[in-house]
Amino acid sequence: MFLTELSLTNYRNYKKTRLSFENKVNVILGENAQGKTNLMESIYVLAIAKSHRTSRDKELIKWDEEYAKIEGRVQKRMSALSLELVISNKGKKAKVNSLEQKKLSSYIGSLNVVMFAPEDLNLVKGSPQVRRRFIDIEIGQVMPVYMHDLNQYHHILQQRNHLLKQYNRSPEKNKVMLEILTTQLVEIAVKITNRRIHFLHLLQNWAEPIHKGISRGLETLKIQYNPSVDVSEDIELSKMVEVYYEKFSKIKEKEIDRGITLAGPHRDDMQFFVNDKDVQVYGSQGQQRTTALSIKLAEIELIKSEVGEYPILLLDDVLSELDDYRQSHLLNTIQGKVQTFVTTTSVEGIDHETLKKAAKFYVTAGG
Ligand code: ATP
Ligand code: MG
Repeated sequence: MFLTELSLTNYRNYKKTRLSFENKVNVILGENAQGKTNLMESIYVLAIAKSHRTSRDKELIKWDEEYAKIEGRVQKRMSALSLELVISNKGKKAKVNSLEQKKLSSYIGSLNVVMFAPEDLNLVKGSPQVRRRFIDIEIGQVMPVYMHDLNQYHHILQQRNHLLKQYNRSPEKNKVMLEILTTQLVEIAVKITNRRIHFLHLLQNWAEPIHKGISRGLETLKIQYNPSVDVSEDIELSKMVEVYYEKFSKIKEKEIDRGITLAGPHRDDMQFFVNDKDVQVYGSQGQQRTTALSIKLAEIELIKSEVGEYPILLLDDVLSELDDYRQSHLLNTIQGKVQTFVTTTSVEGIDHETLKKAAKFYVTAGG
């Protein structure tokens, strides 16, 4: 799939802009603070309905304006879609082919993107929260119903935490309620855990050969899922439910004492190993960056295999950070099959051959 048109209204530093893109490498050139990242972010938001940089949607609206609007046209193999996302302080409104979508989960997935930006190093170096966010967004892209389940999970989690906080005020009454909420929580937790196992398994299968290629055959990348509840990869669903209940009965006193839910998908994490060593702990800066790159390239293939079409790729400020070998490896992988957007402050940062064939856009102060 590829993006043929993008219109921005009151988005960050863009007042009103309309751009047409081609199905190849599109280079966004501009000095610092002109709006390159904002443009990339707007494409990401058009696809995912949230920003990769902030969870506060208000920041996306141009200062002193009431709303921001992103419109795009997506060309797919069999059809073309027009997408519209309006962000205001009342929330988000999403349309596909002019039809308003009641749930964002029926909007997400219309356009698939993979973004690779400097912050992605946090996927390896950052907190578990960053990795959970990554897993959730990527599963959501290929399976929108997952987002719906996740929202429901967080809703029940909030209720359960609220109950745990005041449990000791009337333990007799609260005992039954806790059992009900635990049952509801486990029901969805199992679905989420199961999909995460499946997703990370697929990701591992794609990422390992890609990483091997980038590291000239020297490194083996392994992705390990670390769920907060001890479930193995080939566990059956009914058994997983049992394991969850066992865990919750074991930690009941502690949960009441602390007033918070101590197990479940909101506490999961994953770990990356290069040649059996934890990359977060032992990896060099370059190995950590390569790991993040392998994961992103794996995602491209994973989306293609699940959705049937390649996503678009957004590379913000990362190309010049890669050494020549990694840069040409990346460009060779995507050349001719993935529509790509690349930002740069100077043409020197980009491989000459790629630049010659690319469409170029110059941004100055949001125009
Ligand atoms: P760099 O090369 O430094 O990465 P950039 O071209 O990527 O620069 P952007 O991050 O896109 O720059 O930001 C461009 C400008 O947009 C910044 O000066 C920023 O202050 C401004 N900006 C950010 N949010 C808003 C907003 N909500 N309304 C208006 N302007 C904004
Ligand atoms: Mg930038």
